[in-house]
Amino acid sequence: MSLSRPLRLLLLGAPGSGKGTQTSKLLKEMSLPTLSSGDLLRQHGDDPKIKQAIARGELIPDDVMTGMVIGDLARRQLLAGAGKSWLLDGFPRTLNQAVLLDKELSSHDSKLNCVVELNVPQSVILERIENRWVHIPSGRIYNLQYNPPKVAGQDDVTGEPLSKRPDDNVEVFQRRLDKYNELIEPLKQFYAKQGVLHTVDGETSDIIFPKLLKLIRDNFS
Ligand code: ATP
Ligand code: MG
Repeated sequence: MSLSRPLRLLLLGAPGSGKGTQTSKLLKEMSLPTLSSGDLLRQHGDDPKIKQAIARGELIPDDVMTGMVIGDLARRQLLAGAGKSWLLDGFPRTLNQAVLLDKELSSHDSKLNCVVELNVPQSVILERIENRWVHIPSGRIYNLQYNPPKVAGQDDVTGEPLSKRPDDNVEVFQRRLDKYNELIEPLKQFYAKQGVLHTVDGETSDIIFPKLLKLIRDNFS
């Protein structure tokens, strides 16, 4: 799919709702620079304080996280003008982060223009998580039930080992879910007021993806 105007997309959704999976499906349809705050932290967060917060399911402070994300966007020259398309996953996830990002993007005349909430029943999500493995360097996600790697324990593309995230266990996961539920409403209101919020519902990524694609096609191609 080619776009007729820049797409600056944010995927919102509970942990395990499939933001990463939708991102990789989307990349098969169009080339789009993507930034996942969780991947960024897992790849570059050597700081023990960051590692510990992640393992406990706690959030990284807004100023640290915002600095990392804006720094990464700038380094990749994605802020250079209003002409670039890109996708964010996992950031912003607090109202404060949304306001800080909005200020920065406004100054480059490139505000988010499409915010999509993936609305997946939380009972479905909890089932998924124990089966999830990741390839940390790329952020590629596998699910032993729905989307297993071709060779057990290995990334399909590189053959490198897959990892279990330290925060994908029942107790920490519940904490992440609770945190999400606590923070999401003000975030949604912020983007609803700007007229850019959409919601897609479904129990599986295969049901959600065509809806996401249609939304993008209807609005940006
Ligand atoms: P999933 O990847 O399962 O959809 P998630 O959104 O909870 O769920 P990540 O986005 O990978 O997972 O984030 C993992 C952890 O990294 C979070 O629990 C938090 O500690 C930290 N983190 C990621 N993004 C942010 C953010 N925007 N603000 C603060 N902390 C963050
Ligand atoms: Mg993710």
